[in-house]
Amino acid sequence: MALSAVRAGVAPINWAAALMFVLTSVVAVTVIPWYGITHGYHAAAWIVFTLFLGANGMAITCGYHRLFAHCTYEAHPILKVAYLFFGAMALQNSALNWAAAHRVHHRFIDDPERDPYCARRGFWFSHIGWMLRSYPSGEPDFSTVRDLQRDPLVMWQHNHYLLVALSTNFGLPLLVGYLIGDVWGVFLLAGVLRLVASHHFTFFINSLAHMWGSQPYTDENTARDNPVVALLTYGEGYHNFHHMFAHDYRNGLRWWQWDPSKWFISSMRVLGLTRNLKRVPWFRIQRALLDNQFQRAERRLASLPGRAQLEQLRARIAEEYDAFSKAVAEWAHLREQWLEDTKRAMVERWEQSNLQSRLRELEYGLRLQYRRMRVLQAQLG
Ligand SMILES: [Zn+2]
Ligand SMILES: [Zn+2]
Repeated sequence: MALSAVRAGVAPINWAAALMFVLTSVVAVTVIPWYGITHGYHAAAWIVFTLFLGANGMAITCGYHRLFAHCTYEAHPILKVAYLFFGAMALQNSALNWAAAHRVHHRFIDDPERDPYCARRGFWFSHIGWMLRSYPSGEPDFSTVRDLQRDPLVMWQHNHYLLVALSTNFGLPLLVGYLIGDVWGVFLLAGVLRLVASHHFTFFINSLAHMWGSQPYTDENTARDNPVVALLTYGEGYHNFHHMFAHDYRNGLRWWQWDPSKWFISSMRVLGLTRNLKRVPWFRIQRALLDNQFQRAERRLASLPGRAQLEQLRARIAEEYDAFSKAVAEWAHLREQWLEDTKRAMVERWEQSNLQSRLRELEYGLRLQYRRMRVLQAQLG
């Protein structure tokens, strides 16, 4: 279907999703405040609201996103079950459906015809609009999730999604409310308001995280890094990094960057519930940063009138950049070789240590080159 036809609203309304969003939103802005004014909410209801909200958000980011969609680490079946349980409660479809759409989002990012929540189609579309109608771009492509189709836990949740989703959204809050002695209070806060809040916090990843923030790693797509969005999205606001290095279990690279999903995944390793956490090597990340800065500096210089001094500086940066790129390529090649050799039991110990010391030497040289380039680039402003 042509994009113009899609935009003209030809795609049929997805009534189940539309009714769910409208109904829960209306209750959130009418019945919930009214009940609060006339009856009041117990502190326990707010605590359950917070716990369920956090569990839903983390199940989506740590489970649906970083585990199922991107395989950035391996998880113990107990943790997978928890993700699938609280992920279904977040009412964002089964993990299989979610991962299928998300992998297509990464592959065809910003393509209005194929990216299911293409940010170029506007804030409303990427935030929620893409779910309100059955757009062709939203059709799940299960050929992208063959690996997940072999996971019996993922398939059980997929096949029983409605049962799990309804029982967690109605049964669980009602049961907890009954146990606390405030059935309606808990249902309204931990059932309905929690669902509405959970939806919008995670929907910001597809909308705000593609519109507001900086682009330190690449400006070839709309993904942005933004610490404020990270606060709202359990760490997923470092989206420019994520779209560049989707196989890294972290989104916030630095230890101080707000990424509770990263902290949760790494702390679960201590308990033996996660393993093989994937990290992109430091040099690859630095190289992406430099590539991006270099291209920007080139563009800026090209737009300036030709001044001899600037040209000289440009030539020096180009030279340094060239040397750095070559060193990184050599480092990557050596590292690959070293990894291969490590895997091979036949390799002689002395050869390995020789390679390791060459790697260390090269890494030291790379750090120096990198610093030199940063100093040169700083002169460009
Ligand atoms: Zn994205
Ligand atoms: Zn992703």
